[in-house]
Amino acid sequence: MKASSYHYKTLKDAPSDTELVSHKLMIRAGMIKPLASGIYSWLPLGLKVLKKIENIIREKMDKGGCLEIYMPMVQPKSLWDETGRSDEYGPELLGFKDRGDREFYLGPTHEEVVTDLARKEINSPKDLPLTFYQIQAKFRDEIRPRFGVMRAREFLMKDGYSFDLSETSMKQTYSKIKQIYIEIFNKLKLDYRIVNADSGSIGGSSSEEFHVLADSGEDLLAFSDESDFACNVELIEEDDVNKIPGMDSPDGMGKLDVKKGIEVGHIFQLGNKYSKSMDLKVQDNNEIKYLEMGCYGIGVSRIIAASIEQSHDEKGIIFNETLSPFNLIIILINQKNDESINLKANYFYEKLKDAGNDVLLDDRDCSPGIKFSDAELIGIPHQLIISKKTIESDSYEVVTRKDLSKKEITEEELFALFS
Ligand code: ATP
Ligand code: MG
Repeated sequence: MKASSYHYKTLKDAPSDTELVSHKLMIRAGMIKPLASGIYSWLPLGLKVLKKIENIIREKMDKGGCLEIYMPMVQPKSLWDETGRSDEYGPELLGFKDRGDREFYLGPTHEEVVTDLARKEINSPKDLPLTFYQIQAKFRDEIRPRFGVMRAREFLMKDGYSFDLSETSMKQTYSKIKQIYIEIFNKLKLDYRIVNADSGSIGGSSSEEFHVLADSGEDLLAFSDESDFACNVELIEEDDVNKIPGMDSPDGMGKLDVKKGIEVGHIFQLGNKYSKSMDLKVQDNNEIKYLEMGCYGIGVSRIIAASIEQSHDEKGIIFNETLSPFNLIIILINQKNDESINLKANYFYEKLKDAGNDVLLDDRDCSPGIKFSDAELIGIPHQLIISKKTIESDSYEVVTRKDLSKKEITEEELFALFS
């Protein structure tokens, strides 16, 4: 991509109402643009990162035998009346009426819609087990939308739903999908922990959350210093959270330590809560069985903010190779009146692209200082600097974004490095 024909626009300062570093940096880097409270447009640079995350999730879910579908975002209220959640879910549900006076909600989650779909699609035990998933915008009228896409009102979620004939098989499916989540979060190179959690208004018997560890996290997590015990502190019966560090671990092994986390995934064993209230069943020999369900969420858009919370410095974002919108940025110095620089840069650009690199060529007509600070802000892992001098001496500067270390290499070494 050439910056001169891309929409590569950064901001020197973040808007005054931004608190969190990830929020500031995403806006300054031109990844997102606010439209209304908790509602954002995704610009090309931000969307590119979002798509990378989506693709990793898709690849791993598909490989694990989960099937992608796409359900409507607009949901009839009548389905939520069947499960009783119209009342239970509360003011996060945004509702409206159509011209025929029928009531609808903007989907905050899809248990009702998917259970309705399943009762139409699943007719016999032969259809089982089955896991559907989708990647879709959700709407929750959050009481305090803040921190940008971290806690938005409209946000992108991967939501998956499994259907099994027995509790044993549901638990096997749950374990399999937990393993898929581990693969996803490992591939995203996030520092995360899995903790036991409260199932909240989604319900079911047991659930686990995936948290990215960060001091700005809104959740408190308790870990035993001796065993694998880990839970969201909302499960611990202690009103004063300050008393939790040093408390005996509930499993009887060791003392508790507390860390802050950002919830990026939540998986639930739902059991038959939705299948019973919505009559989702099959006949197995002579027995009628309500299906056993699980549900599996990932906060796709939140992951970007969480990863930036974990990886940035005073100059900007530090993306890893997996998440970065480009893996290499070529910075041209004073190319305006010197065709030899443009020619060389274009040659590098084409050749490095052919070798499989995703390259941003900064051929904008602006000062080197702006180019350097923009490249540092948007956090591309490697920078390649081309000027008259570097061409003449066959010595190109490659800068690593992470530690801003520099090394001089020849053209030949360059192609070996990015092959
Ligand atoms: P939270 O406790 O942060 O409000 P939740 O428990 O209500 O989240 P789930 O219903 O488990 O969320 O939704 C699945 C995932 O969607 C969450 O793990 C989180 O990563 C993401 N998510 C939930 N609410 C938001 C939001 N307002 N903005 C961005 N992502 C969100
Ligand atoms: Mg949750």
